[in-house]
Amino acid sequence: MRVAIIGGGAAGFFSAFSVKEHHRNASVTIFEKSNKLLSKVKISGGGRCNVTHACFSPSKLSKSYPRGGKHLKKSFSVFQAQDTVEWFSQRGVELKAEEDGRMFPTTDSSQTIIDCFHKEAANKNITITVQSPVTKIVKEKEGYTLQFESRSEQFDKIIVATGGSPKMSGFYWLQKLGHTISPPLPSLFTFNMPGDQIKILMGLVVENATVHLQGTKLSHHGPVLITHWGMSGPAILKLSAWGARHLAENNYNFKIQINWLSIKSDEVANEIIEEKLLAIRKKKISNACPFELPNRMWLFLLEKVGIDPDSVWHELSKKNRNKLLNILLNDIYEVKGKTTFKEEFVTCGGIKLSEIKMTSMESRICKDLYFAGEVLDIDGITGGFNFQAAWTTGYIAGKLIE
Ligand SMILES: Cc1cc2nc3c(=O)[nH]c(=O)nc-3n(C[C@H](O)[C@H](O)[C@H](O)COP(=O)(O)OP(=O)(O)OC[C@H]3O[C@@H](n4cnc5c(N)ncnc54)[C@H](O)[C@@H]3O)c2cc1C
Repeated sequence: MRVAIIGGGAAGFFSAFSVKEHHRNASVTIFEKSNKLLSKVKISGGGRCNVTHACFSPSKLSKSYPRGGKHLKKSFSVFQAQDTVEWFSQRGVELKAEEDGRMFPTTDSSQTIIDCFHKEAANKNITITVQSPVTKIVKEKEGYTLQFESRSEQFDKIIVATGGSPKMSGFYWLQKLGHTISPPLPSLFTFNMPGDQIKILMGLVVENATVHLQGTKLSHHGPVLITHWGMSGPAILKLSAWGARHLAENNYNFKIQINWLSIKSDEVANEIIEEKLLAIRKKKISNACPFELPNRMWLFLLEKVGIDPDSVWHELSKKNRNKLLNILLNDIYEVKGKTTFKEEFVTCGGIKLSEIKMTSMESRICKDLYFAGEVLDIDGITGGFNFQAAWTTGYIAGKLIE
């Protein structure tokens, strides 16, 4: 069996290992268009490579994928984060989990992963050809012809692991095989709030906020960072990923509602004030915030609702207390535009999963053609989930190829 793997990235290498592990006699060649192998692995995780996430339940793991999670759930029962940890450990690479669940090699260097892959490829007799862009895949009666710039080669099976593309044109050559492409769109971005006063608080972090996207059911919890252009931080990034398609359809003009305290109702917030009132009733409101909130944010919100910061708590009218609770729990901001990270840029979109048999990663449209990694319409939030999807889909494609 002659197997061609298109793409020398994370998914391409992992597919190749899996083919050789399960089909010893197969001849496997990786074709990489550039002169660099595993280039994204190298720069990933700030040079440390966030290999996976310490989440060892397939169903929980699948919840970190705004697109593709449902489809990946079953795939994770074949190869999940625990299998990744074991796979690397068996090859002498230990992974460690950080407090937030991200897993890195104990060396804190992505080069460890790259060295491990090169060693494994050599051990498994995998042929690697760089500077070999595949320009066309031609289906034959039996197998496929791969066309390169000035030559062509025949193979029995193909695994496409060419990664994502920020432009639709990057997928045209795969579309020609009959596949449908979900249009690529940015998935992780921050929110622009031109003209909003909140920007005077730039650099400030509110740790425990919940951000809701108005007009949807989407809400995300976590730190919110105020920037000089608007808002960022984990809660905003998660919302951008889960709302990517909706936000693009609205041309990135939308409203968010922020609960700065992540307290469920006015009643609960009122009870907290009542509990603390005895101790603070004679204090200036500006100096006695009954909640865990950075003081600069507290002062900003007091000013926003027009409460005199020098007034004392027992002078606060019921009307003003309600106004205060409303802004703490339902503060509304208008977003006009987005800012994407220059490098840490994940796109959603790619080959539609309804056209893929997730049990084998084989195309439903072209027999003997398989897909793995970011070329598929799968994307995860940050934290090692994108590589995990590459390991899982690569492993399954390589195993089930026959
Ligand atoms: C800066 C940065 C940091 C990241 N950090 C993390 C992280 O820490 N953890 C995490 O989980 N995810 C991270 N990601 C996302 C992760 O890198 C990707 O999800 C992952 O690399 C996808 O692997 P892949 O093999 O599918 O695609 P890629 O890594 O993009 O590899 C595809 C390869 O195919 C080649 N190719 C494309 N077309 C052709 C062709 N026609 N012929 C031959 N070769 C071709 C490309 O040159 C490329 O080498 C990061 C991404 C970026 C950009």
